[in-house]
Amino acid sequence: MKFDPAQNIQNLQYFGEFGGVNPSIEDSSTYTFLKASKMEEVFEKEVEGCYLYSRHWNPTNRYLSQALARMENTESAVVTASGMAAITSTLLQLCSHGDEIVSSRIVYGGTYAFLKNVAPRFGIRTHFVDFTKLGEIEKAITPFTKVVYCESVSNPLLEVADLQKIGELCKRYSVKFIVDNTFTPMILTPANWGADVVIHSLTKFINGTSDTVAGAVCGSNEFIHSLSDVSHGTIMLLGPVMDSHRAASILKNLHSLHLRMQQHSKNAFYIAKLLKAEGYDIRYPGLPDAPGHPVLKRLMNQGYGFGGMVLLNMGTREKAYALMERMQQVNIGYLAVSLGYYKTLFSAPGSSTSSEIPEGERDALGLSDGLVRISIGLDSDIEETGRKMLQCISEVTSTFESKVVTKPESSLYAAALQ
Ligand code: PLP
Repeated sequence: MKFDPAQNIQNLQYFGEFGGVNPSIEDSSTYTFLKASKMEEVFEKEVEGCYLYSRHWNPTNRYLSQALARMENTESAVVTASGMAAITSTLLQLCSHGDEIVSSRIVYGGTYAFLKNVAPRFGIRTHFVDFTKLGEIEKAITPFTKVVYCESVSNPLLEVADLQKIGELCKRYSVKFIVDNTFTPMILTPANWGADVVIHSLTKFINGTSDTVAGAVCGSNEFIHSLSDVSHGTIMLLGPVMDSHRAASILKNLHSLHLRMQQHSKNAFYIAKLLKAEGYDIRYPGLPDAPGHPVLKRLMNQGYGFGGMVLLNMGTREKAYALMERMQQVNIGYLAVSLGYYKTLFSAPGSSTSSEIPEGERDALGLSDGLVRISIGLDSDIEETGRKMLQCISEVTSTFESKVVTKPESSLYAAALQ
């Protein structure tokens, strides 16, 4: 299927209030009506071109939402104050007391913590299964299942979900398929493979400047309307609204997302190949022997590469920490969570972004303490970065080898294939 999300955004045409090439920023929390009866009508149903109150809708947020819907090939979208707000509002809109969710066992730590610790307080139960095994997903679906949930490429293990096959399964069982596409904007278009709702943490690649926290939900007109319904909508009533100035700045950043994704992917592919050739335990779905590679090849849009995230297994937490500190000292990037920045960012997911998953469970998932998750930056001289990275790894490895002999942990791929 030939689909180009960047061209879809390019084809949008906006005029600012005074003819500006950027849409005007609507800096108001509330809106005037010439007739009181019109206000009554807007409270009852959405009326095109009419705005009520900015927690409900704001024109600037609408522009960003429309562009994101174009990118994800959905009818509509709505932006939120964080990725977690997008996830939790969506799940609480679709699920009620007694309903069940089938989720991938490898999801962002915050999502996992919500499903495991908070959703049960509302009577919503989640079955966590291995999403690389279609049979396990099917087995976990019951008459109470409302939602099947996964990340297109998982945080942090970079497993690739077979969106096409999972999408078909969800249609067969009439359950909603929700996909968090934060790691692969432009690269994957989950709605083209059967996802009903596509979620983003805009905080990451889409905004790309690590200066805000933001999210989005993309889906059908009906679902997006339901989220902002004045009486029943979780976004309207929980209230995670995005500020309009932020929506305007994210929209401007979105216009260069396709170029940034190409560069992130090109650089990540280079680093993954380099480290692999040196015999390091590296995972990158662009490598031909990576477990998710064939699926990604089949589902991906052309021209944006395999993504900017690389996972390196240093074997132990001590080595992982030493490597990250050393890479920051030599200015390869920053020891920081998050992703999609112009600088390379690295963190050890076991003790940071996935620390919400209990230690025993992390081990079973192959989420070992020696992992370093690396969001490769936009470096113009990636060969130089690669040389520095190899130097850092070899320094750390030799320091530890001269101190203690550590028992190597199981290889990433071996753990993934178990
Ligand atoms: N989804 C994924 C895959 C993430 O990595 C994150 C954050 O790290 C989130 C959702 C949550 O997004 P936010 O931090 O914008 O709330």
